[in-house]
Amino acid sequence: MKSTEASSFGSELDLVKKSLLMQKSEILNKHLEFKHAQIATDKAADEADAVVQDLQDNINIQLHERDQLSLLLIERALSKFADGTYGQCESCEEMIDLRRLKARPLATLCISCMEDQEAPGKNLFQ
Ligand SMILES: [Zn+2]
Repeated sequence: MKSTEASSFGSELDLVKKSLLMQKSEILNKHLEFKHAQIATDKAADEADAVVQDLQDNINIQLHERDQLSLLLIERALSKFADGTYGQCESCEEMIDLRRLKARPLATLCISCMEDQEAPGKNLFQ
């Protein structure tokens, strides 16, 4: 009997999506805690909470460059979940290998397209 590949693929993707959401909130929380600690040093706690709430509502909060890039990539991946194109290679439109997605949830290219695009010696995504 063949296993129901399609539905297990879907639930595996759900896990990838959850891990992306986790990563996103980790980055935001890390930043908020940092901001909170900064503010709390010279302002009343309730005032700081208000500022933190304000930050949570504001997508354009200042983040470290690296975190900002991560957030951007995460948002991009999440928006693909929303329009149902997550996991599709941006180059050849084939589905990216699930094991690759689980290891690299932000991957936008399948392995063969990635190998085509990457110059020899460059291994940014591996
Ligand atoms: Zn491809």
